Amino acid sequence: ANGARVPVLVVGTGYGGSVTALRLAQAGVDVHMIEMGMAWDTPGSDGKIFANTTTPDHRSFWLRTRTKQPLSNFLGFPIDKNIPKYTGILDAEEFAGIMVYQGRGVGGGSLVNGGMAVTPKRENFAGILPSVNADEMYSTYYPRANAGLGVTSVDQRWWENAPCYQYARVGRKHAQRSGFPFVFVPNVYDWDYMKAEEAGTVPKSALAGEVIYGNNAGKKSLQKTYIAQIKSTGRVTITTLHKVTSVAPAAGGGYTVLIDEINTTGDTVATKSVTADRVFFAAGSVGTSKLLVKLKATGALPNLNNEVGKGWGDNGNVMCGRANHMWDATGKLQSSMPTAGIDNWAAGGAFAEVAPLPTGIETYASFYLSITNTPHRAEFSWNAATGKVDLSWQTAWKQTSINMAKTIFDKINQKEGTIYRTDLFGTYKIWGDHLTYHPLGGAVLNKATDNYGRLHGYPGLYVMDGSLIPGNVTVNPFVTITALAERNIENIIANDL
Ligand code: FAD
Repeated sequence: ANGARVPVLVVGTGYGGSVTALRLAQAGVDVHMIEMGMAWDTPGSDGKIFANTTTPDHRSFWLRTRTKQPLSNFLGFPIDKNIPKYTGILDAEEFAGIMVYQGRGVGGGSLVNGGMAVTPKRENFAGILPSVNADEMYSTYYPRANAGLGVTSVDQRWWENAPCYQYARVGRKHAQRSGFPFVFVPNVYDWDYMKAEEAGTVPKSALAGEVIYGNNAGKKSLQKTYIAQIKSTGRVTITTLHKVTSVAPAAGGGYTVLIDEINTTGDTVATKSVTADRVFFAAGSVGTSKLLVKLKATGALPNLNNEVGKGWGDNGNVMCGRANHMWDATGKLQSSMPTAGIDNWAAGGAFAEVAPLPTGIETYASFYLSITNTPHRAEFSWNAATGKVDLSWQTAWKQTSINMAKTIFDKINQKEGTIYRTDLFGTYKIWGDHLTYHPLGGAVLNKATDNYGRLHGYPGLYVMDGSLIPGNVTVNPFVTITALAERNIENIIANDL
């Protein structure tokens, strides 16, 4: 409530925020979580909470009047369409050089992601977070994160014959024929539920193609794991459709937090002020970076150091499709939950997830989201003229990622006698190089913060999300974000409370 004083305020309810709130609550601390998106706990008029991938509606996009689908075209036709403006689940946030896709609502990115739950290879960890003790991460915090998230591996015997993974088996065949290591990757989907979907005994979710606009069943989003545990502590309140706009030192100690209450068309309906002894920034790489850069530049938190806003990367994301021969059908039924990848990281700097194209029709296409070892890092800065935060990412930087992805797909195309699809991202455009699903960095660990997320210059302010990770994790990021948050909050509880 307006004017309240609270011990801990957490900005955002994604991975970093959920770990923070759970562990503090278990340590006996009352926690208030503030989330700008919706609760996503109430079915719409169609009886479902979330819209289907093939039929986006007002629930699908964050405050847009037209969809901005990651694949903008299909067989030469643009597929975006008008929708009512609403505080929907997927934010396609536009910066000058890149579109950053993010989840909005209680659970953050866990609401919209593909559930791929990948622990990076140990040999790569020193390059990801050089100041973090790898032994501790791999013995304690990665296992803790994987357990908390409900990560499991697909039953490979079932997978070998499941029609919904024909696309992945085609992906394996092509990878192996070209000599690339094909690796299974864990996921947070409930595989028993998927088998029941296949048997027709439960409502379909992954097998109905649900993913980027939410899964109505089967996927263990944070709502079913950390946030369910948070609720059972009885010590955490979650306030939705509230957006934190400012944090500044309060006269009597602690921090004054300004919060806009918004309605479902994004208008501010009230502004509230709360005083918090401690504030944990967990608004995601973009959300946290935007707040900190603005607060430093506008004088609310002038003592933040010059590392704030720096070290941002796209995890090297680039997408592409390949056109297969007619004898390599990928199947009209495709599970929306990826299970595998092609690992050419050491040799070519690319790890490609074998992704579905859940269109419901046979496309003869193989589709991939590559994570690449790009060296490019951008910086957020405050633009006083527009009153917005800009990002210095250059579209041309994606060429490095394309070249790395080509180390896999040029070779496969040559071996198979196939070509790239040119119809998925526009007319005659092969590469989806305008976007990222994996924003990382902007308040890098041991630079903008100490080695555990304490912001330099302001005791009681912390960063707990993907903005701590300097731009790349070599694989999909949420397990590392969760594990790092588990590590940091343990240290903070032991030393600061
Ligand atoms: P987030 O999960 O982004 O949470 C931040 C939260 O803070 C959001 O709910 C946001 O609404 C809220 N917020 C922001 N600003 C404010 C504010 N000012 N006030 C109040 N609240 C605010 N990763 C994987 O590992 N595997 C995958 O398979 C995978 N697939 C993906 C697919 C898609 C389509 C997308 C978009 C992402 C995918 N990711 C995947 C990435 C993963 O979801 C993110 O890396 C992860 O969610 C980031 O966690 P976080 O805690 O940093 O922040």
